[in-house]
Amino acid sequence: MFQKILIANRGEIALRVLRACKELGIQTVVVHSTADADAMHVRLADESVCIGPPPSRDSYLNIHQIVAACEITGADAVHPGYGFLSENAKFADILAAHNITFIGPTGDHIRIMGDKIEAKRTAKRLGIPVVPGSDGAVSEEKEAKRIAAEIGYPVIIKASAGGGGRGMKVAHTEADLEVALQTARSEAGAAFGDDAVYIEKYLQKPRHIEVQVFGDGFGRGVHFGERDCSLQRRHQKVWEEANSPALNAEERSRIGGICAKAIADLGYSGAGTIEFLYENGEFYFIEMNTRLQVEHPVTEAITGIDLVHEQIRVASGGGLSVKQEDIKFNGHAIECRINAEDPRTFTPSPGTITHFHTPGGLGIRVDSGVYSGYKIPPYYDSLIGKLIVHGRNRVECMMRLRRALDEFVVDGIKTTLPLFRDLVGNADIANGDYDIHWLEKYLAKEE
Ligand code: ADP
Repeated sequence: MFQKILIANRGEIALRVLRACKELGIQTVVVHSTADADAMHVRLADESVCIGPPPSRDSYLNIHQIVAACEITGADAVHPGYGFLSENAKFADILAAHNITFIGPTGDHIRIMGDKIEAKRTAKRLGIPVVPGSDGAVSEEKEAKRIAAEIGYPVIIKASAGGGGRGMKVAHTEADLEVALQTARSEAGAAFGDDAVYIEKYLQKPRHIEVQVFGDGFGRGVHFGERDCSLQRRHQKVWEEANSPALNAEERSRIGGICAKAIADLGYSGAGTIEFLYENGEFYFIEMNTRLQVEHPVTEAITGIDLVHEQIRVASGGGLSVKQEDIKFNGHAIECRINAEDPRTFTPSPGTITHFHTPGGLGIRVDSGVYSGYKIPPYYDSLIGKLIVHGRNRVECMMRLRRALDEFVVDGIKTTLPLFRDLVGNADIANGDYDIHWLEKYLAKEE
């Protein structure tokens, strides 16, 4: 087992990882920018190292500073959290070259899944169902038209190097295709320095369903069920649930089994998420994330298994603490992402939190790094905390969520709490009846 883990992140996830390390009796080092000197995880860590000024590229993305911090403190492993360097293959390679363990998959696995065309090809080879579309990159208009006619309109043009929902264009007719292809290519070139794009069928009313997987480092793979993250705004997840209200037990075990086998065949090590669009009973792979997800606590709530413990065990060579047959799904969990944003316009609302009171009681978990008197710096994303609620079934979970939201107090800044208070009272949400466009349509109506 590791002696000392360096946590290369900030905010709630840095605290989340720190808690897991403490439970496992592992020493902790955190790195932070000058803007985060007062952060809770910095206070609670055994050691901290300031690695630079507020902009992320000079601190949380500065590989040299982070490697230097490992050497100074003698850390033998790095947990990257999510975002920042968590899916940076070069970072994983550099750490390996310094004999420091990257708590995640190999640089090569990150590379394969970071390129969407390569990822889709790999998924298909591993027997994962994919969205019908081009086999690889498409640059010629003629070829694009042929493929689109074959799979049928509407189609979506996506950037191979894309991420964060950028570089995607929908074409509803052949007349739209030429412009969509050109725009997607020039946007992808400008945003990612790579103008490779591919085409796939545009699904009209899908749900976003993702499977939590783990490779144990010894050629075995398991799945921890799925999460439904269909409630999104601008491709950003807002509310996540496990299990999905749309799947039955047979579908869950079928798609989970396919994903677990794929992970085993790939020889993957650590946590991963295989993301699908789901429509009319069919799953369509869209991408794989090779890291821990923001929404991992809903899976922890229904399985009772600490996924960060498992990541650390696997990375240290100790394998998983559970086998597939030990993983059971109990009840229902929902996570609400609480952002420091105006709940109507979603503009960021940094500033000082004058009062912070979190709900409690059975089935309630709050993952947050903020506290009364904390000043939210304006440099980073606006997530200030996550409320995760668990109940024996979805109805109980929703009742508990409504009560917890009523107790939650954040004064001094604007937050998205009022949005969630509206959503728990909505009939479609109560029925679990929503797709990936539901939230945007709802917000447009409310305006
Ligand atoms: P990114 O990595 O940029 O987030 P994804 O491939 O994960 O890109 O897609 C992001 C979102 O775009 C999906 O959650 C979905 O809302 C939409 N999307 C992607 N592909 C399709 C498709 N074939 N049909 C319909 N919507 C899609």
